[in-house]
Amino acid sequence: MPISSLPRLEPRLLTELGSFVGSSNVLTASTDLLAYDCDGTTLEKLPPSAVVFVSHTRQVSEIVQWCARNKISYTARGAGTGLSGGALTLDGGILIELSRMNRILSVDTRSGLAVVEPGLVNVHLTRAVSEEGYYFAPDPSSQAACTLGGNVAENSGGPHTLKYGVTTNHILGLTVVLPSGEIVEVGGECRGTPGYDLIGLFVGSEGTLGIVTRITVRLMRAPQTTRTLLLSFSSTLDASLAVSAIIAQGIIPAALEMMDRLVCEAVEKKLSLGIPEGTEAVLLVEIDGFEAGQDDLVSRIETIGSAHDALQVRAARNDAERSDLWRARKGAFGAIGSISPSYYTHDGVIPRSKLPEVLARIDEIVAEEGLRVANVFHAGDGNLHPLLLFDEREADQIVRAHRAGEAILRLCVEVGGSLTGEHGIGFEKIGAMSWLFDEATLSVMHGVRLALNPDQLCNPGKAVPSPASCREVRRVFGSKRYA
Ligand SMILES: Cc1cc2nc3c(=O)[nH]c(=O)nc-3n(C[C@H](O)[C@H](O)[C@H](O)COP(=O)(O)OP(=O)(O)OC[C@H]3O[C@@H](n4cnc5c(N)ncnc54)[C@H](O)[C@@H]3O)c2cc1C
Repeated sequence: MPISSLPRLEPRLLTELGSFVGSSNVLTASTDLLAYDCDGTTLEKLPPSAVVFVSHTRQVSEIVQWCARNKISYTARGAGTGLSGGALTLDGGILIELSRMNRILSVDTRSGLAVVEPGLVNVHLTRAVSEEGYYFAPDPSSQAACTLGGNVAENSGGPHTLKYGVTTNHILGLTVVLPSGEIVEVGGECRGTPGYDLIGLFVGSEGTLGIVTRITVRLMRAPQTTRTLLLSFSSTLDASLAVSAIIAQGIIPAALEMMDRLVCEAVEKKLSLGIPEGTEAVLLVEIDGFEAGQDDLVSRIETIGSAHDALQVRAARNDAERSDLWRARKGAFGAIGSISPSYYTHDGVIPRSKLPEVLARIDEIVAEEGLRVANVFHAGDGNLHPLLLFDEREADQIVRAHRAGEAILRLCVEVGGSLTGEHGIGFEKIGAMSWLFDEATLSVMHGVRLALNPDQLCNPGKAVPSPASCREVRRVFGSKRYA
């Protein structure tokens, strides 16, 4: 976007905005705004008209009320690592930046909880409580950067979702600034608050129902022991069948991740894991719990590996080897940069039993478009992440990447799956919601949004389609977003 056509707020409005937070906490220079023109979904870019850094709940409330008075839309932003365009302002609205609200307000390990601000980086919480033997279980691969507020908004998952659940399972209470500016407390310090499940409503609502300014999270006791294994296979079919076999035996690993050959090649360049020649897919399997019984579980997983012709089954021998394996897995998206100029991360869910057929079909879809695909995903949850490799400098390749992505999503829905496992709908998939839900269901969702966000100034055009939001996405990005 040329700098001259960036959205602008008139000077009077900018002065008013500065009066809430101090003018040094408002960014309006074109060059600054360009740094906020996308999240982790980099194919579509739109800068906001201003970025305002907030430091406490009352400020957020004042700004939201000011937006309502002036009919200016706004979007909350944590670290901007989202992968569905959730933190983009679609219509020249402002970004409310929460990354400076990053304090841990209290930790109570006896009750197993902590109260934090939304801009706290996910892994910083675990680091802060690990010496006391606790951790925060949801661990997105982006955990070194993403914020707890973003995790709440997206109901984020991560490799350890399989055993420990997603973000919503670890949230006890929230302070939320509603689009009216009112500040509400939802939940508390324990589970089981009566009435409607408002935690369930706000978690995963992608910032469309209000801005979260304080979070009470559940802390988990670190397991007594953890074992991590790497199983290499000469075909993705064998690896997929091994996934089903592990679960079918009643083993619930803490994590069960798959990386295919292209991903292994990319991570091997950075980390030299010693993955054997001829590997087409690896499984990273982690089990944890009490020491007793772990040897038995490891040998059962080894046996399943052998029964599925694993080329190698290797257990990490110490913490350093274990953390190398996890560095490889969590750095996999980044490593793809060494084998492709651009990639487009997709996110869909399928019933686990459909893994072999769906992976094969994805290969065909991508080959039909003349592209390559690398797969790295939460296999135990059936949560796929096909990374479509292309070259952004070739316009035609972008079109083909979009087409392949759409076909993959349709496939996920056709086999009984869903449009997203953890990255959310954002604006990216808003037009595809009608593939999954009928009109009656969508209008219930839209009604919920209207009840809390009647003017639709709070993160418009995201998560739940309305005729207006789909029109807006179409107006801004054309018809390529399934709209
Ligand atoms: C390399 C990489 C790996 C990833 N791996 C995973 C993974 O394993 N699992 C997973 O689930 N996701 C993953 N993600 C996606 C992303 O990191 C998560 O969605 C994360 O929760 C986003 O957090 P954020 O702070 O960056 O949020 P942002 O991108 O800033 O915002 C995301 C959404 O949350 C809203 N929001 C942010 N803060 C608030 C708030 N305080 N109140 C209300 N709404 C708010 C925004 O408006 C936006 O709609 C990955 C991303 C990358 C780039």
